[in-house]
Amino acid sequence: MDSTRLSVPPQWRADADALEKQVDECNGDKVKLQKFFERRNTSHWTKLRAELVDLCGRKCWYCEGKVSHSRLHIDHFRPKGRVTEDPSHTGYYWLAFVPQNFRLACEFCNSSTDDVTNGSRRTKHDHFPLLNESARIRSPGGELSREMPVLLDPLVASDSVMLSFDMVGVARRNALTPRTPLESVDRVTESIRIFRLDRTGLTEGRRVVMGEVVDLAKALGVFPQAEEWIRARIATEAEYSSAARAALRTARGLPNVCQAFHDVLLVDESEVTDSDSTRDLNLSLPRLIETGVLSPGVELIGSTALGDVHATLIADGRVELGARAYASPESAAAAAGAEASSGWHFWTIEVNSGRVSIAEIRDTYASARSQHHET
Ligand SMILES: [Zn+2]
Repeated sequence: MDSTRLSVPPQWRADADALEKQVDECNGDKVKLQKFFERRNTSHWTKLRAELVDLCGRKCWYCEGKVSHSRLHIDHFRPKGRVTEDPSHTGYYWLAFVPQNFRLACEFCNSSTDDVTNGSRRTKHDHFPLLNESARIRSPGGELSREMPVLLDPLVASDSVMLSFDMVGVARRNALTPRTPLESVDRVTESIRIFRLDRTGLTEGRRVVMGEVVDLAKALGVFPQAEEWIRARIATEAEYSSAARAALRTARGLPNVCQAFHDVLLVDESEVTDSDSTRDLNLSLPRLIETGVLSPGVELIGSTALGDVHATLIADGRVELGARAYASPESAAAAAGAEASSGWHFWTIEVNSGRVSIAEIRDTYASARSQHHET
């Protein structure tokens, strides 16, 4: 899903600016902010629903179920009013009117689900767990890219590809995107749990669509409309289109499938960058970013005799230290005063379970991927 295509009407933006001013006047005071958000006029974001629907149809971005227009909620991916995982947090109030923080969600994914285990009600829109709680941003202006969210973001391609489905419609982790030591909780399992992506209706709906795709794939070259009907099911705006694509990938061995859907299968493959598996043994930082294992903006910490050194992984895979960007972890380590040879072991990322070196992350990923290829 491509959110850069979102067109925001000028009047909506102007009204949002005025509301943001009122948010600013709350000065980060939790009580004042809560009162502000409780007032009815703040549901300004729902006025952007039609523009968000234009991006990928009338469906929930989390579970991909079709929903009637009026029942599509605008979920704030980073919750605006409170964060369940961090009771002292005010919520990301400064993102309340920022469309990049909006996700279309069905009532079920957005509102409440019963948490049977502890008897309490769960609400997605207050949940925003991080793999690195210590990096949580608490006020406007903070670098959000330092945060490593647990929940899969439908707007992040490398997140979406982590979720796959078996042929009976059950959501599970894509074997090509193995878990690394950064995930003290499995991001896919946790997303399935919080959005309840394993609820019966969803699984059944996905199973039906997947079965249809396979049946149509078998009929390619025999039944003239088969290709067109498959394309309708894998289109972004179609219900359960990710499951339909997963079914098509499963059916790739059938005659005519690769030929007819070369374009689709190629894109899916490049998303998990499976084209040259031998390169996995020699993964570079740009490659780890490309595969979604590491995200640009995260903080790298190196430990020296004089104390910790802080650097940032930037989008092109270089390591930014002070005012300079270094081409490799080795050169950045040398600049930080460490043995250059130890670059990959020197730089670590702090997550809830402790510090993990980028070498550990790379090696776990590479070995899980190569095991997958052997099987
Ligand atoms: Zn949903």
